[in-house]
Parts: sequence; C-alpha cells; structure tokens
Amino acid sequence: MRYSQFLIPTLREDPAEAEVVSHKLMLRSGMIRKLAAGIYSTLPLGERVIQKTAQVVREEMNRAGAMEVTLPFVQPAELWHESGRWNVYGKELLRLKDRHNREFCLGPTHEEVITDLVRGVVSSYKQLPVNLYQIHVKFRDEIRPRFGVMRAREFIMKDAYSFDVNEKGAEVSYKRMYEAYSRIFERLGLKFRPVEADSGPIGGNFSHEFMVLAETGEDMIVTCSECDYAANTEKAEIKKPEKVDGSKENLLEMNRVETPNMRTIEEVTGFLKTEAKKLIKTLVFSSSDGPLVALVRGDHEINEVKLKNLLACNELELAEENLIEELTKAPRGFAGPVGLKDVKIVADYGLIGGTNMLTGGNEKDVHIINVNFDRDFTVKEFADIRLAEKGDACPRCGKSLSITRGIEVGHIFKLGTKYSKAMNAVYLDEEGKSIEMVMGCYGIGVGRTVAAAIEQSHDKDGIIFPAAIAPFTVIVVPVNTSDKAQMHIAEKIYQEFRDKGVDAIIDDRDERAGIKFNDADMVGIPFRVTVGKFAVRENSVDVKIRKTGEVRKFAVNDVVSAVIECI
Ligand code: ATP
Ligand code: MG
Repeated sequence: MRYSQFLIPTLREDPAEAEVVSHKLMLRSGMIRKLAAGIYSTLPLGERVIQKTAQVVREEMNRAGAMEVTLPFVQPAELWHESGRWNVYGKELLRLKDRHNREFCLGPTHEEVITDLVRGVVSSYKQLPVNLYQIHVKFRDEIRPRFGVMRAREFIMKDAYSFDVNEKGAEVSYKRMYEAYSRIFERLGLKFRPVEADSGPIGGNFSHEFMVLAETGEDMIVTCSECDYAANTEKAEIKKPEKVDGSKENLLEMNRVETPNMRTIEEVTGFLKTEAKKLIKTLVFSSSDGPLVALVRGDHEINEVKLKNLLACNELELAEENLIEELTKAPRGFAGPVGLKDVKIVADYGLIGGTNMLTGGNEKDVHIINVNFDRDFTVKEFADIRLAEKGDACPRCGKSLSITRGIEVGHIFKLGTKYSKAMNAVYLDEEGKSIEMVMGCYGIGVGRTVAAAIEQSHDKDGIIFPAAIAPFTVIVVPVNTSDKAQMHIAEKIYQEFRDKGVDAIIDDRDERAGIKFNDADMVGIPFRVTVGKFAVRENSVDVKIRKTGEVRKFAVNDVVSAVIECI
C-alpha cells in the first residue's frame, strides 16, 4: 500500500468530543468518524484493524469447531414475542415497522433468530452438538453511548450460540469457548482476565466475562491477592461472617431524635456524632413480586444484582418517592425498619450482630438511635446482598480482595433451555423422544476490543498496536522523496516485504520527514524502516520499534529478514 493513495485523515488536535484516550486516538489517527451519537463510520485504517481482529476471532472460533453464518440484522417481532422478550427487553431494543405495518427490531443480539434457525434445521441428536457464529453488526439503543466504539449503538460483535443434547454437553461447549476466548485475547496481545460474572437464574459457574485490565474501564473487578479468584463486583460473593464486632455491647433503650432535613448518611452521622457503620441503610425497592425493603450497613453499598437473584424476581428497582411514602409514611431519607408492616425485609450479612444501631424513624425529620434486631424489629433473612469492597475477605481463600478496573470485551454464558423451551427447539433422541436443546451464547465486541487494546497500549505520540492487529506491520519511510537513489532503495525494501507476505506501507508522500514520523507513531505501526542518506552512502537503514522506541541499524539487504524475525 502506498501512503499517498491511502486515505488516512489524521487530526493534529484532540477532538473535544472524546473523553477517553482510545476514542481520541481512533479519531486522531483517522480510524473512525462519527455520524450520529454512538454511530460511527470505519475508515480504511480502522477497517484494517477491525478486520485483523475479526480474523483472529474467526480462526479461533473455527479451530474450536464453530461454524460461521450470517444472520439477519432486521428481526421480526413475532420471534421476540415467542421468547417473551419483546415486552421485557426495554428501550435498548430499537423497534420499527415496515410498509405493511408489521413490527420488527434491529438485532441487539440473536438468540431468537438462531433458535428459530436451528429448530428448523436440526431435528435429531445425530446433528448435535452445533455451534454457529457470526461477526456482524448489532444495534442497541444505549442510554448513554460514549467512548466512541467502546459503547456504541451500532457495533460489530462476534456472537456464537451452542446447542447440545444435555447439560453435560453444554458444559463441554462452554469450556471449549472459554479456552478459545483465552487464546483469542492472548493472540491479540492483550492483558486480560476472565472473571466470574452474574449468571442470573441459571446459577452455577457458567458466566464469565473477559476483561481487559485498564484504568478507564467501566467495570469493577474483584481479584484476590492470593488465589486466582476474580469476579465482576456484581457477582463477587461475600461469606457470612463467623465472628461479629459489637455483639458484646449492652442493648440500650431505643430513642427517637430530631434530625431536621438530614437525609444523607453523612448528614445524619455527622449530626449525631456516630459512624456510618452504626447506621442501618434502609432501601425500598419495587419488584415484580411487590415492594421490598433491603437493609445494609451505612458504609456498605447494596448490590442489586445479588438482591434480584436472591429474590428470584424478574424486575427490581429502587422505589419511586410515592411508594416510599406509602410504605414508610415519610419522605425519602427517613425510612427505617422499625414499625414497618406487611413488607418483606432482607438484611445484609454485614448487619449480623449489629447493636444499638441508628435508623430512619419513618417520620419526616426523625431518626431512631439504639435500634436492635429482634428486639425492635425482625427481618425475613440475612443474606449476601452488598457490593464487595477492597479489603473484603476472598470467598475462596479468605485473603484480602482488591478492586481493579476493566473493560468487558467478551462474555460467555450458559443459557440452558430458556430459549429452546420458550421457542420449542427440540431434537429427537435415540428412542425418538422429543427433548429441548441446551444452549450457550458467547459474545465478543470487536470494536470494543480494538478500543481496549488502545486503552492498554499507547503513549503521548499515539497508538502502540500489538503486531497482530496493527493496520500495517511495517512502514517504510524514504526521508527525501525527491532523491531518486533513496526512493529506489525504499521501493526495493517495500517490495521485498510485500513479496515475503508482510503487511507493509510505503510513505511516499512529499512531506517533511518529521511529519511522516509523527504519523507513523500516531497510527501505531510496530516497525518503521527509515531510508535516508545513509542508505545511499553506507548501505544502512534504521528500524524503529514503536513499542520500545529503540532504533537499530541494518544493512539494506538484511533489513527485511531482520524485521520479520522480530514480528
Ligand atoms: P455491557 O455490560 O458493557 O453493556 P453487555 O453485558 O450488554 O455489555 P453482552 O450482551 O454480553 O454485553 O455483549 C457481548 C459483548 O458485546 C460485550 O462483551 C462487549 O464486548 C460487546 N458490547 C456490548 N455492548 C456494546 C456496545 N454498546 N458497544 C460496543 N460493544 C458492545
Ligand atoms: Mg449492555
């Protein structure tokens, strides 16, 4: 490829719209351009990176026995009615109507379509297992699209779906995908970690997210300093405490205190000169099973995912003001468990043994001190419903947990029979009995993976692409294009790279060398071969390694094989 003929519209300035470095660099290096919120065009340079990333994914999926297909992007509503998701998927699902007033949606994911396909073409146990995948566009009407292609509305995903005869088979398929994912992210040159993720009502250890470790990640990951336990904070377990502080305190008399306009934990504990851990935070939720009250210690945070799983309810969200008032007879900020009637109360393990606690008084501007469990109110159960924090004990080995940030680039999930049951995807076993297929689904955000690679690997000069996904592996830069001898050597080296199958570009633009060097650095090409006057005089060229900044000299005739050895 010749730079002069290739479209790389680099920008000199940081674009104002970009908050994170990958977004800035993808815009500045001319990889993408925005069309609308969360909707991007991919330019030739970006397309090369996306294609190379997709190719690694494709090779590993094929190696794991999955078969590539292309599924329609526009999906009929009927399928979503069948699965029961049309009315529960929410606003991320972009719905539309055709000229006949028939309802459709833009595919945010393809469980319905694939289940429909497979139930139509697979009928016997002899045809199973199958794993089908595609690398294709998705649309999710994200509430806050941001960070460029990292959280876009339209984006490329690799999604695979496995179908097995039973649970055991599904677990084998799951494990195979886990291994394929590990190979993919290793080949892409990323620092990543598979972490246990919430598997919802399916339970078990059958949902993992693949996280690229990066400060700017939106996800919080819990990792153990001692063993290899790692989990999304949504899922990270906290064991029931064996020993509890404060249980030796004498129970004091409960007392109502005036706390005018004090709603927050800081305000109340500051005013009453006590600590947040002596406060019972009372959270009112509305759920598909009616209202519910959850109690956590004032210095802890509720984990809604764990709470939802505990209750096994379909929907759960913090209650609106009117429900809070109806239940507690007080405005938000003054709720407490004492005197609450006809509502289920669940308390976090962190409150076990809590003595002489502070709570809201269920009356405006009133709190209660010296509240005690059992004596003053009862809860239905104690459970693990809070977010794990730095320093909590590892649920596996008991050592201290740390929290790091990550970018979720992949997600593997055992689906069980959720879709096959709802959509009647069955096969006939050896005895001719009709049995539901057991499914799994496996996604990788291709654009997000590229952005994550950039988050993880860049410097002040631009992107430092891992060789596997760099748009070009080598750039040959003649310093002075009007010097015929230099150009001749540069062309010869470029041609030799191409002959040997190396993805090379020659910067034949009539520009100052400094500009060409800056562009090569910005775009993140791993190797730069500089052909200057010494190439002509002394038969020597420089190779700059983008990652380390190191410059090495080679004879013109040796440079191609020397670079190939380093790739
Ligand atoms: P998130 O929690 O980040 O919204 P998700 O749980 O909705 O992700 P999945 O449905 O598991 O994501 O999708 C599989 C993969 O698709 C994710 O691991 C991620 O890499 C990618 N992905 C999901 N949403 C987006 C998006 N809005 N933009 C780009 N990639 C995305
Ligand atoms: Mg999402």
